[in-house]
Amino acid sequence: MGKDSYEEAIAGLKKLLSEKQDLGPVAALKIDQITTELQTTATFNPIERMKAGMEYFKKEKYDKDPQLFGELAKGQSPKFMVVACADSRVCPSHVLNFQPGEAFVVRNVANMVPPYNQTKYAGVGAAIEYAVLHLKVENIVVIGHSSCGGIIGLLSIPDNGATGTDFIEDWVKICSPARNKVKAEHGSLPFAEQCSICAKEAVNVSLGNLLTYPFVRDGLAKKTLALHGGYYDFVAGFFETWGLNFSLSPPVKVP
Ligand SMILES: [Zn+2]
Repeated sequence: MGKDSYEEAIAGLKKLLSEKQDLGPVAALKIDQITTELQTTATFNPIERMKAGMEYFKKEKYDKDPQLFGELAKGQSPKFMVVACADSRVCPSHVLNFQPGEAFVVRNVANMVPPYNQTKYAGVGAAIEYAVLHLKVENIVVIGHSSCGGIIGLLSIPDNGATGTDFIEDWVKICSPARNKVKAEHGSLPFAEQCSICAKEAVNVSLGNLLTYPFVRDGLAKKTLALHGGYYDFVAGFFETWGLNFSLSPPVKVP
Protein backbone atom coordinates (compact mmCIF):
# COMPACT_ATOMS: atom_id res chain seq x y z
CA MET A 1 0.00 0.00 0.00
CA GLY A 2 1.48 3.36 -1.06
CA LYS A 3 1.48 6.64 0.77
CA ASP A 4 -1.65 7.95 -0.95
CA SER A 5 -3.73 4.89 -0.21
CA TYR A 6 -2.44 4.94 3.38
CA GLU A 7 -3.67 8.51 3.76
CA GLU A 8 -6.92 7.59 2.05
CA ALA A 9 -7.36 4.75 4.52
CA ILE A 10 -6.82 7.09 7.47
CA ALA A 11 -9.32 9.58 6.02
CA GLY A 12 -11.81 6.81 5.40
CA LEU A 13 -11.43 5.49 8.93
CA LYS A 14 -11.94 8.96 10.40
CA LYS A 15 -15.05 9.44 8.31
CA LEU A 16 -16.52 6.12 9.35
CA LEU A 17 -15.72 6.68 13.00
CA SER A 18 -17.49 10.06 12.86
CA GLU A 19 -20.55 8.29 11.56
CA LYS A 20 -20.37 5.48 14.07
CA GLN A 21 -23.85 6.14 15.43
CA ASP A 22 -25.47 4.04 12.77
CA LEU A 23 -22.83 1.70 11.49
CA GLY A 24 -24.28 -0.95 9.28
CA PRO A 25 -22.63 -4.29 8.56
CA VAL A 26 -21.05 -2.93 5.38
CA ALA A 27 -19.42 -0.06 7.23
CA ALA A 28 -18.21 -2.37 9.98
CA LEU A 29 -16.66 -4.60 7.34
CA LYS A 30 -15.01 -1.58 5.76
CA ILE A 31 -13.52 -0.59 9.13
CA ASP A 32 -12.12 -4.08 9.55
CA GLN A 33 -10.61 -3.91 6.09
CA ILE A 34 -9.01 -0.51 6.68
CA THR A 35 -7.69 -1.61 10.06
CA THR A 36 -6.09 -4.65 8.45
CA GLU A 37 -4.54 -2.46 5.76
CA LEU A 38 -3.14 -0.11 8.38
CA GLN A 39 -1.66 -3.03 10.31
CA THR A 40 -0.11 -4.35 7.13
CA THR A 41 1.42 -0.95 6.46
CA ALA A 42 2.91 -0.89 9.95
CA THR A 43 4.40 -4.37 9.56
CA PHE A 44 8.17 -4.32 9.97
CA ASN A 45 10.00 -4.94 6.73
CA PRO A 46 13.48 -6.28 7.49
CA ILE A 47 14.79 -5.83 3.94
CA GLU A 48 13.66 -2.20 3.80
CA ARG A 49 15.18 -1.59 7.25
CA MET A 50 18.56 -2.92 6.12
CA LYS A 51 18.42 -0.99 2.85
CA ALA A 52 17.66 2.22 4.72
CA GLY A 53 20.48 1.53 7.18
CA MET A 54 23.02 0.91 4.43
CA GLU A 55 21.88 3.98 2.51
CA TYR A 56 22.36 6.11 5.63
CA PHE A 57 25.78 4.62 6.37
CA LYS A 58 26.93 5.03 2.76
CA LYS A 59 25.79 8.65 2.55
CA GLU A 60 26.72 9.85 6.04
CA LYS A 61 29.84 7.79 6.80
CA TYR A 62 31.35 5.88 3.88
CA ASP A 63 31.16 8.57 1.21
CA LYS A 64 32.27 11.29 3.65
CA ASP A 65 35.56 9.65 4.62
CA PRO A 66 37.23 8.18 1.52
CA GLN A 67 40.64 8.43 3.20
CA LEU A 68 39.63 6.15 6.09
CA PHE A 69 37.82 3.63 3.96
CA GLY A 70 40.64 3.72 1.39
CA GLU A 71 43.09 2.74 4.13
CA LEU A 72 40.75 0.04 5.46
CA ALA A 73 40.50 -1.43 1.96
CA LYS A 74 44.19 -2.29 2.26
CA GLY A 75 43.98 -3.91 5.69
CA GLN A 76 43.18 -3.51 9.36
CA SER A 77 45.34 -2.80 12.39
CA PRO A 78 42.94 -2.32 15.27
CA LYS A 79 44.35 -1.37 18.66
CA PHE A 80 41.56 -3.20 20.48
CA MET A 81 40.07 -6.62 20.65
CA VAL A 82 36.72 -6.37 22.41
CA VAL A 83 34.72 -9.21 23.92
CA ALA A 84 31.17 -7.98 24.37
CA CYS A 85 27.77 -9.50 24.97
CA ALA A 86 25.49 -10.30 22.04
CA ASP A 87 22.79 -8.21 23.75
CA SER A 88 21.33 -5.74 21.24
CA ARG A 89 21.71 -2.85 23.68
CA VAL A 90 25.44 -3.00 24.24
CA CYS A 91 27.14 -2.71 20.85
CA PRO A 92 30.67 -1.53 21.69
CA SER A 93 30.95 0.45 18.48
CA HIS A 94 28.09 2.60 19.72
CA VAL A 95 28.92 2.68 23.42
CA LEU A 96 32.63 3.46 22.96
CA ASN A 97 32.28 5.12 19.56
CA PHE A 98 34.72 2.74 17.89
CA GLN A 99 35.07 3.62 14.23
CA PRO A 100 35.56 1.07 11.44
CA GLY A 101 39.01 -0.45 11.82
CA GLU A 102 39.41 0.40 15.51
CA ALA A 103 38.16 -2.70 17.28
CA PHE A 104 38.20 -6.40 16.47
CA VAL A 105 35.01 -7.56 18.17
CA VAL A 106 33.81 -10.91 19.43
CA ARG A 107 30.29 -11.03 20.79
CA ASN A 108 28.66 -13.93 22.54
CA VAL A 109 26.17 -14.61 25.30
CA ALA A 110 27.35 -12.79 28.44
CA ASN A 111 30.71 -11.72 26.92
CA MET A 112 32.61 -14.74 28.14
CA VAL A 113 36.12 -15.91 27.35
CA PRO A 114 36.34 -19.66 27.86
CA PRO A 115 39.57 -21.29 28.96
CA TYR A 116 41.93 -22.51 26.22
CA ASN A 117 40.32 -25.55 24.61
CA GLN A 118 41.02 -26.38 20.97
CA THR A 119 37.90 -28.44 20.39
CA LYS A 120 35.22 -27.17 22.74
CA TYR A 121 35.79 -23.45 22.32
CA ALA A 122 37.53 -23.17 18.95
CA GLY A 123 35.43 -20.19 17.84
CA VAL A 124 36.55 -17.83 20.57
CA GLY A 125 40.07 -19.29 20.54
CA ALA A 126 40.43 -18.61 16.82
CA ALA A 127 39.38 -14.99 17.31
CA ILE A 128 41.84 -14.44 20.15
CA GLU A 129 44.64 -16.11 18.20
CA TYR A 130 43.93 -14.00 15.13
CA ALA A 131 43.70 -10.77 17.12
CA VAL A 132 46.88 -11.33 19.11
CA LEU A 133 49.17 -13.10 16.65
CA HIS A 134 48.08 -11.65 13.32
CA LEU A 135 46.47 -8.28 14.01
CA LYS A 136 48.77 -7.70 16.99
CA VAL A 137 46.15 -5.84 18.98
CA GLU A 138 47.58 -4.00 21.96
CA ASN A 139 44.53 -4.33 24.21
CA ILE A 140 41.92 -6.94 24.94
CA VAL A 141 38.85 -5.55 26.68
CA VAL A 142 36.13 -7.78 28.13
CA ILE A 143 32.97 -5.74 28.68
CA GLY A 144 30.13 -6.85 30.93
CA HIS A 145 26.88 -4.97 31.25
CA SER A 146 23.80 -4.31 33.38
CA SER A 147 20.70 -6.53 33.15
CA CYS A 148 22.59 -9.25 31.29
CA GLY A 149 20.32 -12.18 30.48
CA GLY A 150 23.28 -14.56 30.40
CA ILE A 151 24.35 -13.54 33.90
CA ILE A 152 20.78 -13.86 35.16
CA GLY A 153 20.82 -17.36 33.66
CA LEU A 154 24.13 -18.19 35.32
CA LEU A 155 22.90 -17.08 38.74
CA SER A 156 19.65 -18.98 38.23
CA ILE A 157 21.31 -22.36 37.73
CA PRO A 158 20.45 -24.45 40.80
CA ASP A 159 23.21 -25.48 43.17
CA ASN A 160 23.07 -29.05 41.88
CA GLY A 161 24.08 -27.69 38.45
CA ALA A 162 21.01 -29.07 36.67
CA THR A 163 20.37 -27.46 33.31
CA GLY A 164 17.36 -27.38 31.02
CA THR A 165 18.66 -25.60 27.94
CA ASP A 166 20.52 -27.00 24.95
CA PHE A 167 23.38 -24.53 24.98
CA ILE A 168 22.92 -21.46 27.14
CA GLU A 169 23.52 -22.79 30.64
CA ASP A 170 26.51 -24.95 29.70
CA TRP A 171 27.98 -21.91 27.97
CA VAL A 172 27.51 -19.47 30.85
CA LYS A 173 28.88 -22.04 33.31
CA ILE A 174 32.26 -20.88 31.97
CA CYS A 175 31.92 -18.21 34.63
CA SER A 176 30.72 -20.48 37.43
CA PRO A 177 33.54 -19.23 39.70
CA ALA A 178 31.90 -15.77 39.54
CA ARG A 179 28.52 -17.26 40.39
CA ASN A 180 29.93 -19.19 43.34
CA LYS A 181 31.76 -16.14 44.66
CA VAL A 182 28.67 -13.94 44.48
CA LYS A 183 26.47 -16.59 46.11
CA ALA A 184 29.00 -17.01 48.94
CA GLU A 185 29.78 -13.34 49.55
CA HIS A 186 26.62 -11.52 48.49
CA GLY A 187 23.92 -14.20 48.69
CA SER A 188 21.76 -12.07 50.98
CA LEU A 189 21.56 -9.14 48.56
CA PRO A 190 18.57 -8.65 46.25
CA PHE A 191 18.90 -10.75 43.09
CA ALA A 192 19.33 -7.71 40.82
CA GLU A 193 22.31 -6.54 42.88
CA GLN A 194 23.81 -10.01 42.81
CA CYS A 195 23.51 -9.90 39.01
CA SER A 196 25.37 -6.57 38.79
CA ILE A 197 28.20 -7.87 40.96
CA CYS A 198 28.28 -11.17 39.09
CA ALA A 199 28.51 -9.39 35.73
CA LYS A 200 31.76 -7.75 36.89
CA GLU A 201 33.09 -10.90 38.56
CA ALA A 202 32.39 -12.82 35.35
CA VAL A 203 34.54 -10.31 33.47
CA ASN A 204 37.35 -11.08 35.92
CA VAL A 205 36.93 -14.81 35.33
CA SER A 206 37.22 -14.16 31.60
CA LEU A 207 40.36 -12.06 32.14
CA GLY A 208 41.78 -14.98 34.10
CA ASN A 209 40.81 -17.38 31.32
CA LEU A 210 42.66 -15.21 28.82
CA LEU A 211 45.83 -16.15 30.70
CA THR A 212 45.32 -19.79 29.66
CA TYR A 213 46.14 -18.81 26.05
CA PRO A 214 49.92 -19.08 25.57
CA PHE A 215 50.07 -16.22 23.04
CA VAL A 216 48.20 -13.96 25.46
CA ARG A 217 50.62 -14.76 28.27
CA ASP A 218 53.48 -14.14 25.87
CA GLY A 219 52.10 -10.72 24.91
CA LEU A 220 51.66 -9.75 28.55
CA ALA A 221 55.17 -10.85 29.45
CA LYS A 222 56.60 -8.84 26.53
CA LYS A 223 54.31 -5.90 27.40
CA THR A 224 52.95 -5.78 23.87
CA LEU A 225 49.49 -6.62 25.17
CA ALA A 226 47.31 -5.36 28.02
CA LEU A 227 44.09 -6.79 29.42
CA HIS A 228 41.20 -4.65 30.62
CA GLY A 229 37.87 -5.28 32.27
CA GLY A 230 34.89 -3.08 31.52
CA TYR A 231 31.30 -2.65 32.61
CA TYR A 232 28.58 -0.75 30.79
CA ASP A 233 25.49 0.21 32.74
CA PHE A 234 22.82 1.13 30.20
CA VAL A 235 20.28 2.00 32.89
CA ALA A 236 22.44 4.64 34.59
CA GLY A 237 24.41 5.38 31.40
CA PHE A 238 28.02 4.93 32.50
CA PHE A 239 31.03 2.85 31.57
CA GLU A 240 33.84 1.85 33.90
CA THR A 241 37.06 0.05 33.18
CA TRP A 242 39.79 -1.58 35.22
CA GLY A 243 43.08 -3.28 34.54
CA LEU A 244 44.62 -6.64 35.19
CA ASN A 245 48.14 -6.41 36.50
CA PHE A 246 50.33 -9.18 35.27
CA SER A 247 54.09 -9.10 35.46
CA LEU A 248 56.97 -11.42 36.08
CA SER A 249 59.15 -10.74 39.09
CA PRO A 250 62.90 -11.14 38.75
CA PRO A 251 64.26 -14.57 39.69
CA VAL A 252 65.35 -15.02 43.28
CA LYS A 253 67.93 -17.65 44.19
CA VAL A 254 66.89 -20.05 46.92
CA PRO A 255 68.69 -20.58 49.20
ZN1 LIG B 1 24.48 -9.75 28.22
